[in-house]
Amino acid sequence: MKLTELKGIGPKTAALFEKLGLFNAEDLLSYYPLHYDFYEPPRPVGAVTAGEKCAVKGIIAHPVSVRPGGKATFFTTVIEDATGKLRLNWFNAPYVQALLRRGSVYVFRGQVLRRGAELVMEHPEILTLARYEGMSGTLVPIYGLTKGLSNQAVIRAVRQALALLPAAEEYLPDACRPDGLLNESKAVMGIHFPEDTAGLLSAQKRLAFDELFFFILAMRRLRQMSEAEPNAFPLSPTWQTETAIEELPFRLTNAQLRVWREIEGDLTGPHPMERLVQGDVGSGKTVLAFLAMLLCAENGFQSVLLAPTEVLARQHFEKLKALSESSPAFAAIRPVLLTGSLRAVEKRNVRKAIAGGEANAILGTHAVLESSVEYPALALVITDEQHRFGVRQRAALTKRGSLPHILSMSATPIPRTLGVIYYSGLCLSTVDELPASRLRIRTAVVDETWREKTDSFLQKELAAGHQAYVVCPMIEPSEELSAMDVGACAKRLRKVLPDATVGVLHGRMSPEEKEKAMTAFAEGKTRVLVSTTVIEVGVDVPNATVILVENAERFGLATLHQLRGRVGRGAAQSYCIFMRGSESEAAGERLEILKKTVDGFRIAEEDFRLRGAGDLLGIRQSGDARFSAADLTRDGDMVLLAGQLAADILKEDPELAEEGHARIREKLTAYFEEEERTGIL
Ligand code: ADP
Ligand code: MG
Repeated sequence: MKLTELKGIGPKTAALFEKLGLFNAEDLLSYYPLHYDFYEPPRPVGAVTAGEKCAVKGIIAHPVSVRPGGKATFFTTVIEDATGKLRLNWFNAPYVQALLRRGSVYVFRGQVLRRGAELVMEHPEILTLARYEGMSGTLVPIYGLTKGLSNQAVIRAVRQALALLPAAEEYLPDACRPDGLLNESKAVMGIHFPEDTAGLLSAQKRLAFDELFFFILAMRRLRQMSEAEPNAFPLSPTWQTETAIEELPFRLTNAQLRVWREIEGDLTGPHPMERLVQGDVGSGKTVLAFLAMLLCAENGFQSVLLAPTEVLARQHFEKLKALSESSPAFAAIRPVLLTGSLRAVEKRNVRKAIAGGEANAILGTHAVLESSVEYPALALVITDEQHRFGVRQRAALTKRGSLPHILSMSATPIPRTLGVIYYSGLCLSTVDELPASRLRIRTAVVDETWREKTDSFLQKELAAGHQAYVVCPMIEPSEELSAMDVGACAKRLRKVLPDATVGVLHGRMSPEEKEKAMTAFAEGKTRVLVSTTVIEVGVDVPNATVILVENAERFGLATLHQLRGRVGRGAAQSYCIFMRGSESEAAGERLEILKKTVDGFRIAEEDFRLRGAGDLLGIRQSGDARFSAADLTRDGDMVLLAGQLAADILKEDPELAEEGHARIREKLTAYFEEEERTGIL
């Protein structure tokens, strides 16, 4: 059903929806809210704390005063009740002057921040008592929006779609459906318009279950199939890999050696490889990928290493190139870099080198697997930190003829017990040991009162010849959030660290600018790199010994752990400083976990235990785009349930040929097709 068939949506509005990837009414149903606004009963004015969003009821104590500013005009007043007073600020809201008369009573709902010694509520929503009464206790969905499209407009469209479209038919036969699992169409209703928190929870659980079930089912099904397939690219072991291991500037850890033997065994074995190498940040996964690429090259085949960002792809390329030039054992490797931002001529040349077989180790972003790139002898595809491994690659690669070996590398923090089930469709290797030469990273959680100390600490590390990362949650200042941004942070650091060159890196820079910034830092030309989380995955500059994360409370633990993994890569002692924003008094506890341990899996487990099932309205911490409803650090119970069911069903009916499984089979086929359509080829 076309969007324009819904009331209130003309071609113009439909175009806005398209910007969000929503092309028809069906799409709306799976456009889940980002979060929900909960209209809880108003609080006593004296009971609010910094950092929270809440509602208060109070009397206007002063007439609104106006202060013209640079970009915005500020309006401010104070409310009070028996328990205390609270300042309210608005920007660019002239209507409040007429509305808020002294002595009148309203409910105000907004974010409370600490400004100096005072608590203020920033730009609150103003509601009459009667209006608030009506909304109190309800959950209002908040959707991802685009300029020109209001949340209300999306709500209206979703409501209509829910009413007009036929309800989904349950695909799980009654006999299979686990106890307590909500019916599918009720879940879709409940995720958009929950009646209460309990209803939202069961809706979210059911949708998470569906995503996890089909992911696990698809992976297991693929494994069954590849186990039946012969190895189209059987490689012979060579001495060169043994020599290469000896020529490395470091000794492989036992864990690295063990995993390398597993990879080598697969590549030279009877079936195509489908292996996931799991290992905490810094455990040394990259070198294993390089060894696999070497084995391929020695056997006269090509291999591809796919990275999620250009920065990381380039870094891998530089490293492999250096190895191929310095270490005779790696001489067979002829690497090329292929990313989306190369100029057309460069791309053409690289493509030619690949097609002609001169290049045999291809490093890049997803551009490497575009169908315009021809590989005469592609035997191995490796994906690094590319979270949608497995299904999608496999689905896309099968179209290219013989299935190459697939190796995925990930530091996904998932509790071990869940990992075994979640990854049950893959051969799983774990690099469960960090190189022994490493010193444990020292971690501190501090607040603004430590600013001077952290500044002088940075100064000291830089003076010792080391480098530092500073990570901010935002690129530019925002009026709604008070958090450090890259621009302001870099400006401040240039002032307090006048001897250091400070570079910046963030997602809104062009690929060339990003590359320049990263290269300058890697080469030591800039000593401090102020960035957003673009450095989160994989970046490796061993001379960097400090990472300072501003407003650390705004990130999930998994992200913080990944960020911390950017340091501690060389022989020197490294430090990680998590700076809490001043208005986040409650959030500090969570960060303490990171102080206690540097083991990513333990952190995942702790996080998991801490958050529990109730943390539904919180941020999605795993932060991966793999799922829309499921979150691995929250939905462990659904991983167990879905994994068990997938295993049981496939054991009893491997081909899903039974009548009762017809709907599952259909949905699985659709799942594969979708993966293929959005896949990387
Ligand atoms: P990750 O597993 O996070 O991808 P990398 O492969 O980037 O880790 O390795 C992190 C750093 O450790 C790199 O600088 C790498 O050269 C180095 N390294 C890898 N293996 C070892 C080892 N066995 N001993 C010492 N350093 C190592
Ligand atoms: Mg890595």
